[in-house]
Amino acid sequence: MAQIIQGDVIAKEITKKIKEEVETLQHNPHLAVILVGDDFASEAYVRGKIKAGNKVGIIVDVIRFEKEAKEDDVLDKIKELNDNDKVDGIIVQLPLPDHLNEVKIVNAVSEAKDVDGFTYYNAGRLFRGEPLINPCTPQGIMYMLEASNIDVSGKQAVVVGRSNLVGLPLARLLTAADATVTTCHSKTKNLASITSQADLLFVAIGQSKFITQEYVKEGAIVIDVGISRDENNKLSGDVDFDDVFDKVSMISPVPKGVGPLTIAMLLNNTLKAYKGEFHE
Ligand code: NAP
Repeated sequence: MAQIIQGDVIAKEITKKIKEEVETLQHNPHLAVILVGDDFASEAYVRGKIKAGNKVGIIVDVIRFEKEAKEDDVLDKIKELNDNDKVDGIIVQLPLPDHLNEVKIVNAVSEAKDVDGFTYYNAGRLFRGEPLINPCTPQGIMYMLEASNIDVSGKQAVVVGRSNLVGLPLARLLTAADATVTTCHSKTKNLASITSQADLLFVAIGQSKFITQEYVKEGAIVIDVGISRDENNKLSGDVDFDDVFDKVSMISPVPKGVGPLTIAMLLNNTLKAYKGEFHE
């Protein structure tokens, strides 16, 4: 029977510390969220960020654009926010509508306010081994491992998923922490033969309950990043939690696993941005 890694409990400890620190500051830190269109999931994620910010005293200001927004208008707004000293962090809620150039818009955010860590500058720093601001989900997973006393050094880690947001930066952070890392994706052949060798298995593919017993090693530690919603709005992860539960030693659930840590890292990055920690 596995130990459940309670991401929500770990996240609460972090946000408690953030709240205490914010109470000592002269002003409330300020996070600006650019939201284009009315994507259902994006709306829900943004509501979650506002609520989390409110709890710790971080102002989360949502700047909305219509689905048909012009790219130049979004870029102008980001420039204005970059130049506004009262704004500490800026994030662009993804995905953007197809007619907008996501790379151009994300990279318009100034490096020191890029609290999602998505700009080329911050991604480049991470991959060079000189991280400044790391993407919140991979950073949250590393925090989760540390808080759960999981030492990754020398372990066989397999990351399933190679997105720029999750899989690749996570693999980079695990490598930096001295794990031996294999990255898998949709073209990987015999996926189960690779994942079943992993001491630590990270799954970020967006396929509900894809990972079953035959994909995991006896006693493995499994971190489930995936979030899928069924027709009743019920959340599930990429791992079939009930199926693998008796085979693995530790597992993060969905919900209440990686998700709360992602938000906690966003708040933490915003606090650090307020304190000028990302200015060089
Ligand atoms: P993404 O950009 O769609 O990337 C998915 C990755 O999974 C791709 O690399 C893809 O391979 C791979 N993949 C898809 N199906 C596969 C399969 N059957 N076998 C092996 N690999 C497969 O997604 P993402 O942004 O990384 O997000 C992944 C999941 O994490 C989603 O469910 C998302 O909602 C969730 N998520 C959760 C949080 C959180 O805070 N908990 C944060 C971000 C994302 P190819 O590269 O070959 O296409």
